[in-house]
Amino acid sequence: MTHQELREKYLSFFEAQRHKRIPSASLLPENDATVLFTTAGMHPLVPFLLGEKHPAGNRLTSCQKCVRTGDIEEVSDAFHLTFFEMLGNWSLGDYFKKEAIEWSWEFLTDKKWLGLDKEKLAVSVFSGDSDAPFDEESYNFWRGLGVAEKRIAKLPKKNNWWGPAGTTGPCGPDTEMFYWTGDEKAPEIFDTDDVRWVEIWNDVFMQYNKTIDGNFESLKQKNVDTGMGLERVLAVLNDKKDVYETELFAPIIKEIEKLSGKNYKDYQKEFRIIADHIKAAIFMLAEKLEPSNVGRGYVLRRLIRRAVRYGKLLNIQESFAHKLIASVLDIYKDVYPELKENKDFIEEQLVREEEKFGKTLEKGLREFERGIDPFILFTTYGFPIEIIEELAKEKGMVIDKDKFQKEFERHQELSRTASAGMFKGGLADNSEQVVKYHTTTHLLHAALRQVLGQEVGQKGSNLNSERLRFDFSYNQKMTPEQIKQVEDIVNEKIQEKLSVKMEEMNLGEAKNSGAIGLFAEKYGDKVKVYSIGDFSKEICGGPHVENIGILGRFKIIKEEAVSAGIRRIKAILE
Ligand code: ATP
Ligand code: MG
Repeated sequence: MTHQELREKYLSFFEAQRHKRIPSASLLPENDATVLFTTAGMHPLVPFLLGEKHPAGNRLTSCQKCVRTGDIEEVSDAFHLTFFEMLGNWSLGDYFKKEAIEWSWEFLTDKKWLGLDKEKLAVSVFSGDSDAPFDEESYNFWRGLGVAEKRIAKLPKKNNWWGPAGTTGPCGPDTEMFYWTGDEKAPEIFDTDDVRWVEIWNDVFMQYNKTIDGNFESLKQKNVDTGMGLERVLAVLNDKKDVYETELFAPIIKEIEKLSGKNYKDYQKEFRIIADHIKAAIFMLAEKLEPSNVGRGYVLRRLIRRAVRYGKLLNIQESFAHKLIASVLDIYKDVYPELKENKDFIEEQLVREEEKFGKTLEKGLREFERGIDPFILFTTYGFPIEIIEELAKEKGMVIDKDKFQKEFERHQELSRTASAGMFKGGLADNSEQVVKYHTTTHLLHAALRQVLGQEVGQKGSNLNSERLRFDFSYNQKMTPEQIKQVEDIVNEKIQEKLSVKMEEMNLGEAKNSGAIGLFAEKYGDKVKVYSIGDFSKEICGGPHVENIGILGRFKIIKEEAVSAGIRRIKAILE
């Protein structure tokens, strides 16, 4: 089966079940400060899963372009990619578990559709805990379809739960489908630790609302949200051992063989990383993202540079990233027209970035061999952090991770400001002031919530050595009294000389601790939580001052509207 056929089959199967086909949203989510890239088909649908009416109705299906940078460590294994496509179907308060599970099964196993071998399929369901019971309904639907008891794993929240996108909100169990990829006959018992069982599809059932007092009450609008990995399913359908053997990668791998004169089988890891990263970069560039030192642009830069470095390990001498464009375009030309439309831009950017990096790479590597501090590779030579870690590992060096992380964040924060052309003087003399303003932003955020209410949420922030700028949700002009109140609260706190503490925890713990901030990352991810006394607690990357006593006197110099429902404050430290 070709990738075009698979996409079309999925979408038309669900159309036949009265779903409306919706196009892939952008890889770069708009108006969403919480994630850099679209990571799942449900991502663009969040408002509708939360109750807003979708113009296309309450049954939807799509094929969504996704990027997951969290999986970068796993890239080069058989089934984790940076860029992948997710096929999905949604019920917005319409059908629920029975239909979702029966359709998943029919699509996977019916000869009219994918016709996968039932003997090679296994599933998992939520086992239940003190918050919510065992998902017996899903279990029974699977049994009713003939799935053997031993092929249904009962797993805890860590595996089979979709967490709320905030401290409170919709959540629920999910059920995942796995396919056996081993050479021998599929074992009778589904052992979830055996990596030859590959997850191909996930049906999420949004069923509960987590309330402020931690209870799980039944949701009025119950939703279904499913996601099936196109590359993984294409691989198992065509008896391929991994995604790189499919037609979505084979031509790219072949091109790398030509460029390097090496065989894929001898350098699997290098080839896979190059193919994965350059494909992801091409899709980002096709949406006009440019490499830079901050945010998404930085992710793009890292992907290109890491691929280029692996190219050097294969002894490719000249610029090569742009030479892979043709093979990627050829694969996707009739699916994603934006690739062809932006071909020139993609090429120009890849060439430029590779040249830039090439110049510093050799020099940096030479310095590194001579034993410079690895951090200089980052600050002076612009090496991506993964490359430095890999180089250090190769040399058996131990990197002081804490120091590295601290410096790294500081540098990122500074380059964010510097790249916006904000600094008047040199970086070094002004950096401390920027860090001060960053901490002040947290104080301001907490004070605004005290004075204006908890609906205040951060919508943006921008710092330089002269002032802070903070955008937040609130739909009225602040009164002079409110402004004065906010100033007074912040100044009182500064006078209390509170210290700033950082703790690392996983997202669930951060939410439970009452930290505010950006919650859309995946359940289980590690985050940093910065607290200032009992006054402020936010998920944030840092850096911050150690004690707020040094901040000086806080003053709001402007309060204005940015757009409907969003206000902007500019403030200074005197
Ligand atoms: P895994 O545990 O294998 O990393 P996941 O639980 O993170 O998968 P979901 O978030 O449930 O996956 O995504 C839905 C589907 O998308 C998965 O069943 C899988 O088929 C596919 N998928 C997820 N991550 C990737 C990836 N990095 N590369 C390719 N396909 C993926
Ligand atoms: Mg994953």
